[in-house]
Amino acid sequence: MAAHEVVALRAFSDNYIWTIRDRSHAVVVDPGEAQPVIDYLEREKLTLAAILNTHHHADHVGGNAALLARCPVPVFGPHDERIPEVSIRLADGQHFRLPHFDIEMETLEIPAHTRSHIAFVGGGMLFCGDTLFAAGCGRLFEGTPRQMHDSLTRLARLPDDTLVYCGHEYTLSNLKFARAAEPDNDQLPLLEARMQALRDAGKPTLPSTIAQEKATNPFVRVGAPGVIRSASARAGKTLGDPVSVLAEIRNWKNEF
Ligand SMILES: [Zn+2]
Repeated sequence: MAAHEVVALRAFSDNYIWTIRDRSHAVVVDPGEAQPVIDYLEREKLTLAAILNTHHHADHVGGNAALLARCPVPVFGPHDERIPEVSIRLADGQHFRLPHFDIEMETLEIPAHTRSHIAFVGGGMLFCGDTLFAAGCGRLFEGTPRQMHDSLTRLARLPDDTLVYCGHEYTLSNLKFARAAEPDNDQLPLLEARMQALRDAGKPTLPSTIAQEKATNPFVRVGAPGVIRSASARAGKTLGDPVSVLAEIRNWKNEF
């Protein structure tokens, strides 16, 4: 089988452990817990080839140690000692070949949710952890609105058809907020109906695409008149630059 596929393994209440697999091997992204991965590998008779980590939060790396105890594979991740299991630390622009798979990956440093957050892009796929979500973005735990704006802007420059694999199933609640933040965006109700149907069928709403995020994500669309209008209304003054708009709607979303 030349082709690979990407499978969503569920972890905790709303995390996804994205699993790139073919007939014999698998690479997992952000295994917050080991058991769903172990169960899947055993059921499908797959050998683990590598682990990828986007950032240090426990719900993304908590399964590293238990997986490594069973299969000593390379762990690709950021320069951050808070993930001790990482064996290959990557900086912005570094390329690597995904072990076993014929896929070249590039590392993008996208700080804001955490200061050392990275994304992996390659083979038409983007694994962006908790920075870019479908119709949303991560909380600013260790970064600034400017950093989030810069990081999202970089991701939005990827090809439109890039498949966006986010770390959590947050799409429906994000879309509710997106409708408040950009009430005149008529694509939002259509997308919400499609995503609701997927959830009703027990399926993930992911992956998204870069095109979809550019059309529907208020944190990407901080230059859109409708988003500027509602952010300004909430701030009680005209917000003239995209970073201020992002800061305002990020705070608004925290309370939404
Ligand atoms: Zn996180």
